[in-house]
Amino acid sequence: MGGVPSVLKSDFTGSFRGEIILTKTNHKKYFADKANPRNAASGVSKRLDGVGVEHLDILLYQVIGDIDFKTEEDQFNFLKLQGCKSPNWSVVRPPSNGTPADAVVAAWEGYQAFDSKLRNALDYDIDGLVIRLNDIAKQIELGEKDLRPKGAIAFKFDNASAESTIRDIIWQVGNSGRLTPVAVVDPVMLVGAEVKRANVYNLAYINELGIGIGAKVLVVRANDVIPRIEELIKGTGIIATGPKYCPECNGPTVMDGENLTCTNTDGCPAQIKGRIKNWVAELNILELGVTLIDKLVEAKLVNDVSDLYKLTLKDLEGIDRMGEKSAKSVYESLWKMNPITLDLFVGALSITMIGSSTIRLLMEAGYDNLDKLMDMTRSEAEAIKGIGSTKADFLVSGLEKYTPVIQRLLANGVKIKAKVIGSLTGAKIAITGSTTNKRAFLEQFITDNGGENKSSVGKSCTHLVIADVNSTSSKAVAARKLGIKLIDEESLLNLAKG
Ligand SMILES: [Zn+2]
Repeated sequence: MGGVPSVLKSDFTGSFRGEIILTKTNHKKYFADKANPRNAASGVSKRLDGVGVEHLDILLYQVIGDIDFKTEEDQFNFLKLQGCKSPNWSVVRPPSNGTPADAVVAAWEGYQAFDSKLRNALDYDIDGLVIRLNDIAKQIELGEKDLRPKGAIAFKFDNASAESTIRDIIWQVGNSGRLTPVAVVDPVMLVGAEVKRANVYNLAYINELGIGIGAKVLVVRANDVIPRIEELIKGTGIIATGPKYCPECNGPTVMDGENLTCTNTDGCPAQIKGRIKNWVAELNILELGVTLIDKLVEAKLVNDVSDLYKLTLKDLEGIDRMGEKSAKSVYESLWKMNPITLDLFVGALSITMIGSSTIRLLMEAGYDNLDKLMDMTRSEAEAIKGIGSTKADFLVSGLEKYTPVIQRLLANGVKIKAKVIGSLTGAKIAITGSTTNKRAFLEQFITDNGGENKSSVGKSCTHLVIADVNSTSSKAVAARKLGIKLIDEESLLNLAKG
């Protein structure tokens, strides 16, 4: 990504914190098919194969490591010296006979209007300003309130809004069978874009606002996301209701909490596709894209995730005449992710509310193989910390419901990988500062020995790897306060030897 130098101009080791953006220029040039830069950047940056990331930029604003800055200004200048890009920033000082607050207000007013010179000069949209005390020692001194630092504050700009009329409400069926209404409105211009559709979220929201076709409403576009209907200006007396039958499969719909849901769980193509997409995304099977999944389901080759493992090269080649080479890479990408760890195997099945992190909680409590999980009772599940009665219900009924799929997966050659149990099992380890071995090596080492990597020092850590265990850096002091054990790199390596 742009803004990240390949070589630093100092021997600093540590982390930089920042935000990934897609500039308006690159959005138009490379991702014109994506509705907005924010969603495009989010999608592209999550790809593990890195395709397209060269068109993204990272704007860095914080340095984390064993280096102390006096001011925010120093920190930004250091980042600049390293060749990094940063957000637009400036130091504001009190005017000659004013207060610091006057300076903040002046800066705010400079940016707030959407058509302001300052905002137009940027090649990306912003939704507000962050004002920080320049003096970092003073920031620390002020401390936090409700986990928010008192030395910084974020101001959000007003949302852009316009009046329009609802012409239609369409219902889209999501991966989980949930029907989501979208209002079609008379086109209005908001923040430089023509808006024709707006979110109305769910039936409860529609009822709360009292909106229906023909209603005059206020459309709001906030922070460059999808616009929404914010309020009813003048109604027609008729409030929209949801469809009785699913627009995808004609199955009957029911209310599930605040949402209308298709009840045809096993036969609704939207839900079948959703479960397969969820499996593929959880397991990170890169070559099996969304369009291909749609086609496999439509061709009736795949009806549930177990069918993926019955696909032959011939089957794949037959889809869209994709050719031998592409078919082979899809096939290999699927089987490369086998064996699968137990948490992913069960967590990717699309059992409501049950993801891989829930399964890890169960594994830690001793339910560490498939048989134990399948034999688990509702009350046993509920007794485990972090599960609760709702999840326990979904887990037990879900596993029962998915038993045939699980059996077919296993019969089709999917294997479950045993959990690594090693001398670091139970240890949650963060690393700070410079290390002799590469950080990636140490992290792999921790995983290989059954330990867990933590990206930052926090309550859940058990160990902090640091060059000098007697360090008085703020991080070391904080870690000691939390009762985290400070160890050096060599001790870590020895710890694993037992
Ligand atoms: Zn349906």
